[in-house]
Amino acid sequence: MSYNVNEKGYYGDFGGAYIPEMLYPNVEELQKNYKSITASPDFKIEFDQLLKEYVGRPTPLYLAKRLSEKYNTKIYLKREDLCHTGAHKVNNTIGQILLAKRLGKNRIIAETGAGQHGVATATVCALMGIQCIVYMGAVDIKRQAPNVARMKMLGAEVRPAQSGSKTLKDATNEAIRDWINNPVDTHYIIGSVVGPHPYPDMVARFQSVISEEIQTQLLEKEGRKHPDHIVACVGGGSNAAGAYYHFLDQPNVNIIAVEAAGKGIDTGASAATSVLGREGIIHGSKTLLMQTPDGQITEPYSISAGLDYPGVGPMHAHLFRSGRAEFIAVTDDEAMTAGLEVSQLEGIIPAIETAHAFAILEQRKFKPEEVVVINLSGRGDKDLNTYIDYFKL
Ligand SMILES: *Cc1c(COP(=O)(O)O)cnc(C)c1O
Repeated sequence: MSYNVNEKGYYGDFGGAYIPEMLYPNVEELQKNYKSITASPDFKIEFDQLLKEYVGRPTPLYLAKRLSEKYNTKIYLKREDLCHTGAHKVNNTIGQILLAKRLGKNRIIAETGAGQHGVATATVCALMGIQCIVYMGAVDIKRQAPNVARMKMLGAEVRPAQSGSKTLKDATNEAIRDWINNPVDTHYIIGSVVGPHPYPDMVARFQSVISEEIQTQLLEKEGRKHPDHIVACVGGGSNAAGAYYHFLDQPNVNIIAVEAAGKGIDTGASAATSVLGREGIIHGSKTLLMQTPDGQITEPYSISAGLDYPGVGPMHAHLFRSGRAEFIAVTDDEAMTAGLEVSQLEGIIPAIETAHAFAILEQRKFKPEEVVVINLSGRGDKDLNTYIDYFKL
């Protein structure tokens, strides 16, 4: 079985490009060109150089000694929190801005929830001197004020989405509407492995630098290129896709995906898409989706704005259905406790998204000789207020 995308843009039963006719030219242009452009030598040179000198790659693979001692196994952290702008998202926005330039686009649009992808997009637009418009739910604009300020400082325009629950899903709808109205000069930088083909594959490839580096770093530290377990949190699934990418076809690597259970899987306030979802179509791709019996999308909930999405990328839907990956759901409380623990055991304050990945250490036992790599997708500065309020520190 293959866990990568096929020529038609599917991962098993999931993926494809379910888009309004008005978007065909844009999406087809990408489908036709993304592989040849990103494989060209001049693209590779510029991409690698920016990742190295601007983003700060390779990010360290750090042996977390105190955490390893506590859980009696060997835990390495892949430090995506040390990327410029504080999370893995910039790996993808660098790739897409270079692609957009080569397609002759001079206007960039993006959607954002917590604001991390908006900041990463505004950053690369400033770097390249390209106009940037970020759609963000009106509710999220209020909740994530520091990131809104960062985007403005970087020269981006932040447009509020006023429909629906005024969060990420609605911002995405607005961005798609904009793209339909501006088909020639505009590139839409999607922030995760979601959306119509080729986005899930394109974003996964840009993020695959994460597992590429893990292989080299493990070889140096452990004398072998693969871990026994690779762990990542899944919102749309881009940091996870990057961490899994080079291990997908290696059966000796156990893949663990961590989703947000919110207040609990059975409470109606969660974002555990794989467990709760059924097949459906959202934002241009067929995937697992939280929905009512008659197919209305259910509002997701998680304390973490970055995991608060009702769908999951088609790669992850396939990893779930095929049984290739182990899916674990973690509640708000479990994630917050894990975030505090990592802060005080390792001196690293993780994003609340990432804290979900750490929370599995309490529920899933590993052997002392096993090598567990946890993808530390981002830093927790943006979440300090939520942590402080939660723990009444
Ligand atoms: C956006 C974000 C996520 C969730 O997005 P994925 O596409 O699932 O990776 C996770 N962690 C951090 C730090 C983020 O900023």
